[in-house]
Amino acid sequence: MKTFGCFLILLVLAAISVPAGAQKSSSTAPNLVELEKMAGRFASTPLRVDTANLSAGDRHALVKLVQAARILDQVFMKQLWSGNADLYARLQKDATPLGRARLRYFWLNKGPWSDIDEYRAFLPGVPHRKLPGANFYSADMSKDDFERWVAGIPATDQEQAKGFFTVLRWQDKKVGSLAVVPYSEEYKAELSHAASLLREAADLTGNSSLRKFLSLRADAFLSNDYYESDLAWMDLDAPLDVTIGPYETYNDELFGYKAAFEAYINLRDDEETSKLASFTQHLQEIEDSLPIDPKYRNPKLGAAAPIRVVDEIISAGDGAHGVQTTAYNLPNDERIVQQKGSKRVMLKNVQEAKFRTVLVPIAMRTLSKHAMIDVSFSSFFTHTLAHELMHGLGPHQITVDGRSTSPRAELKELYSAIEEAKADVTGLFALQYMMDHASEMKLAKILPSDDAAQRQLYTTFLASSFRSLRFGLNDAHGKGMAVQFNYLLDHAAFVENGDGTFGVDMTKIKSAVQDLDHDLLTIEAEGNYAAAKDLLDNLGVIRPSLKKTFAKLSEIPTDIEPVFVTADSIDPPTQNAPATKKATKRSRKP
Ligand code: ZN
Repeated sequence: MKTFGCFLILLVLAAISVPAGAQKSSSTAPNLVELEKMAGRFASTPLRVDTANLSAGDRHALVKLVQAARILDQVFMKQLWSGNADLYARLQKDATPLGRARLRYFWLNKGPWSDIDEYRAFLPGVPHRKLPGANFYSADMSKDDFERWVAGIPATDQEQAKGFFTVLRWQDKKVGSLAVVPYSEEYKAELSHAASLLREAADLTGNSSLRKFLSLRADAFLSNDYYESDLAWMDLDAPLDVTIGPYETYNDELFGYKAAFEAYINLRDDEETSKLASFTQHLQEIEDSLPIDPKYRNPKLGAAAPIRVVDEIISAGDGAHGVQTTAYNLPNDERIVQQKGSKRVMLKNVQEAKFRTVLVPIAMRTLSKHAMIDVSFSSFFTHTLAHELMHGLGPHQITVDGRSTSPRAELKELYSAIEEAKADVTGLFALQYMMDHASEMKLAKILPSDDAAQRQLYTTFLASSFRSLRFGLNDAHGKGMAVQFNYLLDHAAFVENGDGTFGVDMTKIKSAVQDLDHDLLTIEAEGNYAAAKDLLDNLGVIRPSLKKTFAKLSEIPTDIEPVFVTADSIDPPTQNAPATKKATKRSRKP
């Protein structure tokens, strides 16, 4: 699963009864001005990564990995639509201003449909919306066609038909039979090329866990069996942190069966990784101090799921269209998750790019000048790490009326919003706790704890709350944030100034955070559905007064368009996308 920070775009699932591919868009495709406006929602942002500390072997391996990643751009475009490769080739030849604008927005979406506009077409002569089954199924195959056919085949064949790594094509349309084609066949030319690049990279790196993963993944590209290489990915611990293969199933809106190819070629951030390791050592102590009735605390926490903090050198394919991924949790294969759990990878430089491009401009319009000084990326990222760790703390196995159960089972559809709020607030609590005990906990070097650092933590959190709220209450993070924002405002910990800007009252915020954390943790510990509903009904709302604030944010970009300057300098893109783009001009008022 991937996350976009709080930029989660809820993609409306289209009605899928319409025979796919039947309708073409009319001539209402956006003109140059409209297209530039659409693309302008993504601020062009260079992603630079300092690779100077890599070994010579890893530096050579990196070239091969960037090349392999670029092949997956091509595979993904094929997966998205059968017409994509031809269309892309045509667009590259069109040198008119409109042609250039179309190419840029096509590359940003890796297809002719705009991700953040419910996949509406922005080019003429293409289906008016992305096909729900993308190109994983024959374009005119309906959901019913598949279900009728699959019910009549043996169970082992069904498993293949519904598997992650196959496409379905008509075998005999008259009788309704389908052929199951493995990815290793369907994308044979591209995957063979990518596999040989991965093998070259495996030979060049000096890191044994990377060598093992790359060799097994190269095998998987050819054999279509990804199991062993997924296991090796869980064990991967190397300066070059690589994720490459078919993973997420979001693009298969028909069934959610089929995995799309993507790549993330990253550099491990050793400083953040060691910070994370120090925090992890203190998790039990934090659990033992949580602001809840001691009987609800967990006397023995399980092992924390692995988290890697990295900088992205290049992303490709499904990992590089529309709203950019800030973190991902893989693999999705339940067999691996059962056996080894899953691993979370956090893309620090992508988060930083979004912070500068989106969060800082939001803060400039919502915070007082005085508070603005305390908006800091370091605080933002440290809280993001704490948020992830805090999902593992607090009540998980609970007893309600003598039954052994879980907060998720008891709180049902309300659980996600409560749990996201809990992770945020417990994250604030935990960081404050560690700041208060920094010297005993030997955290002084990695966690600044002076007054300025404390102000930065809460002020940055206030600024980021507007970013989450802006995206609405349909998302668990947005709803959870509304609860926190309103609670802290009602307890005078967040303050609205006369001029409509906001700030933090440092004399009130710490106790307000503790009290809210107490309420959230107790709701989970008791599996108290009624209390959760009450809290969300009262506080999980956008109050009318905030509408004014949102109106001030309408010009701020939705997301970034990454320019992979480090990857491009290592391996200049040949016929790929409009190479280095000039930075988008936009006027920002302070
Ligand atoms: Zn979360």
